[in-house]
Amino acid sequence: MKKAVVIGSGIAGLAASIRLANKGFNTRVFEANRYPGGKLTAFQQDDYRFDAGPSLFTLPKLVDELFELCNENPRDYFNYQAINTACVYFWDDGTVFNAPSQPDDFARRAAETFNEPKKNMDNYLSRAERLYRVSSPIFLESSLHKPQNYLRKEVLFALSHIRELALTQTMNQVNESFFSEPKLIQLFNRYATYNGSNPYKAPGVLTMIPHLEHGKGTWLPKGGMHEITLQLKALAERQGVKFQFNAPVKRILTQERKAVGIELQSGAEILADKVFCNMDIVPAYRKLLRGHKAPEKTLNQERSGSALIFYWGIKKQFKQLDLHNIFFANDYKAEFDSIFDQKQIHHDPTVYVNITSKYEKRDAPPGCENWFVMVNAPGDYGGYLPAMIDEARKNIIKKLNSVLQIDIEPLIENESILDPTGIEKKTSSYRGALYGAASNTATAAFLRHPNFSSKIKNLHFCGGSVHPGGGIPLCLHSAKIAVDTLK
Ligand SMILES: Cc1cc2nc3c(=O)[nH]c(=O)nc-3n(C[C@H](O)[C@H](O)[C@H](O)COP(=O)(O)OP(=O)(O)OC[C@H]3O[C@@H](n4cnc5c(N)ncnc54)[C@H](O)[C@@H]3O)c2cc1C
Repeated sequence: MKKAVVIGSGIAGLAASIRLANKGFNTRVFEANRYPGGKLTAFQQDDYRFDAGPSLFTLPKLVDELFELCNENPRDYFNYQAINTACVYFWDDGTVFNAPSQPDDFARRAAETFNEPKKNMDNYLSRAERLYRVSSPIFLESSLHKPQNYLRKEVLFALSHIRELALTQTMNQVNESFFSEPKLIQLFNRYATYNGSNPYKAPGVLTMIPHLEHGKGTWLPKGGMHEITLQLKALAERQGVKFQFNAPVKRILTQERKAVGIELQSGAEILADKVFCNMDIVPAYRKLLRGHKAPEKTLNQERSGSALIFYWGIKKQFKQLDLHNIFFANDYKAEFDSIFDQKQIHHDPTVYVNITSKYEKRDAPPGCENWFVMVNAPGDYGGYLPAMIDEARKNIIKKLNSVLQIDIEPLIENESILDPTGIEKKTSSYRGALYGAASNTATAAFLRHPNFSSKIKNLHFCGGSVHPGGGIPLCLHSAKIAVDTLK
């Protein structure tokens, strides 16, 4: 039986291990942490449960697909509910917009709230749907690095829509061309943060992202986001995958330009026919592949943004809040300039509050809520000092107090904090980037590392730092593309 090893048990590592075992490989996963999931984990803080990382779940069918591949019914193990309110948006001037997920309701409600003709939203969302349909099979679901993929009919179809792909415009320019209301432009610019990018630089093609939320829908797994990790690990084990935790990999072993296994920090060597690397691509080359020529242009790509997160147990319930809530900065452009150019958290940040206890009552004690409070932040370019975190905390509280007309501080029963340095430490993500490389140029997608090595045979890559990019759905695509390259 052929052997495969997977370095790391992030969502892409888990998915790759399931696909490899399903292909008949004797598969072993080596994980540096004592737990699986990488960024997709959870923890308990007194009586409050928190998902530590991702909170927005789209395209659940990509998780279901893994169960189906193994001839299992996903509903026997993994369930999720549709979320009807995509997000509640708040502005400092008192405007509140409860954004329905369903596109027609969204357009109608947005027209009422912002005095913008409904047809503008209808046109925008149907264009997002078209963009997704045209570009997803090429940019997201298959390798950009296999010449034969360029000869497919999907590529010709995309070329016929090349102008609509808006590769020469920024997201902000596209959004300004559709809407006159600055709040709606800001709302749609926010989708750049779904892959850690800057809407004032990211290409217009990314205006397809709202289709995921308002066309395909948003979901919450029963039991919280962490269930994705737990159920995929269990599925992998049922397929015969063996996991070893507390097992950091030190080196990828090669012979005559072929990967032949791995060496653990402990010194143990594990030989394999295929090596799958789920570690971030930058440390993978700098540490595991020392001595091999690295693709410097790819590794030096600008990193995506990171985040500063406060996990607060809140001893009160807020009727006006839902699962996803956004409190917008007044000057959005200044916030992105601050993050990407000055490498600082903006003094008036956009604050995201995620509250799973709205749907999962057991996540907080009665009368209380579990608040995951996140602001966009630059990666770690020289350390996050306690004073920087303190200042951000003060600014967040100032904003929440003013919009919610309440004093939040005395309601915070317990707290923990995760900053970009902590994200890098826990997952090896270079500079604590949430999504690998940023998509701040039209060519960024082409510069991401392929899902295989063209220099070292039998070496494959999956995860948020390689093609097609970060976020749960794209990581699941990356695992599929990586395993498909074995064909
Ligand atoms: C705060 C936050 C919020 C986010 N929000 C969302 C969201 O709402 N929706 C969404 O879709 N995405 C979101 N993301 C992004 C999403 O979490 C990631 O894109 C995705 O989880 C990355 O998965 P991955 O497979 O690349 O592996 P990672 O999660 O990065 O895990 C890599 C694993 O490899 C292990 N590893 C690394 N090096 C070694 C080694 N040498 N030896 C052994 N093991 C090693 C690490 O310990 C880790 O477990 C968010 C991320 C964060 C941090």
